[in-house]
Amino acid sequence: MTSARPDLLGLSLADLAATLDAIGVGATHAGRVFGGLHRRLLPLDAIEGLGPRHAARIADATFAAEATVEATHPSDDGTEKLVFRLGDGARVEGVLIPMRGDRLALCVSSQVGCAMACAFCATGTLGLTRGLRAGEIVAQVHAARRRVEPAGRRVSHVVFMGMGEPLHHYAATRDAVRVLREPRGVCIAAQRITVSTVGVVPKMRAFAADFGGRVQLALSLHAGTDATRRRIVPLAATHDLAALKAALLDHPLPGRRALMLEYVVLPGVNDDAAELEALAAWTRGLRCLVNLIPFNPFPGAPFRAPDDATVRRVGASLEALGVPHSIRWPRGRRVAGACGQLALVTP
Ligand code: SAH
Repeated sequence: MTSARPDLLGLSLADLAATLDAIGVGATHAGRVFGGLHRRLLPLDAIEGLGPRHAARIADATFAAEATVEATHPSDDGTEKLVFRLGDGARVEGVLIPMRGDRLALCVSSQVGCAMACAFCATGTLGLTRGLRAGEIVAQVHAARRRVEPAGRRVSHVVFMGMGEPLHHYAATRDAVRVLREPRGVCIAAQRITVSTVGVVPKMRAFAADFGGRVQLALSLHAGTDATRRRIVPLAATHDLAALKAALLDHPLPGRRALMLEYVVLPGVNDDAAELEALAAWTRGLRCLVNLIPFNPFPGAPFRAPDDATVRRVGASLEALGVPHSIRWPRGRRVAGACGQLALVTP
């Protein structure tokens, strides 16, 4: 299925125009096709003014990404886990997270499984099957919109925090972000899109160059020292804390933006005073917010979940050290839809 044909839903408006030109449909149809596909969620043959001959020609010449919602698992806290089936039968998961009013954030997957093998992450136990095409990432957003828009709700935010490491698979992530931002399409503002990475330094730099810091970057840090980080994040052996900090210092932050640093609280591993002091020292000079994530357990996990008091104590320590932070209390745990629990298993 990974054909060399252009990935219809992953093409920017400009690339779509070039493709339509190359296949004899004509670039003049690009705006109408892009708007039909991405804004109105229409199939090619329902796009007004295109005509059946052109629709068929586009369908023949391109790869049409699919992400159909195969199952949904609502949690008691309002989040909903979605299981997407891709065109080749592979499955990935996404999570709809209610925000203020009628808005929802959608957490999308970028890969089937993940190669990063972080010790505390259920997806990491799966290994990597393949990366998604950009259109398959966009198709997850479309599928979620089809689900919520009839009820008057809308997907206002997209976070690349589902299965996979988005910067291990950068071209698809970059192209999907470009498509999602396009004003003629889904039109999600850059600051409402977050790409979370475990720290693929060269691609963090590419991401900064491509988006000028306007798309939110989150770094899964999880430690204040290299020794601790290497215990839980295998990629830390390749990119150490000094390299990560250098990349973040070079990362442009327009307006009042701040970097997000994710920190999974693992009792007895990364929550002691020395670790937090090292973390505070490391953050000096960075405009950042540390997001504490209580470890979400999964079957066979080699760590235990912190109690709320432990998480609050870590927060208080950061407060005392002058490190801005927030706590991401788990949502969706009941359906294994919380951070790090996405492994295609639902209790
Ligand atoms: N690979 C990317 C995208 C995944 S985002 C990254 O690592 O950033 C998912 C977030 O949840 C990451 O911050 C990840 O470290 C965190 N996470 C993973 N497993 C977790 C678990 N069991 N409990 C809580 N958070 C977890």
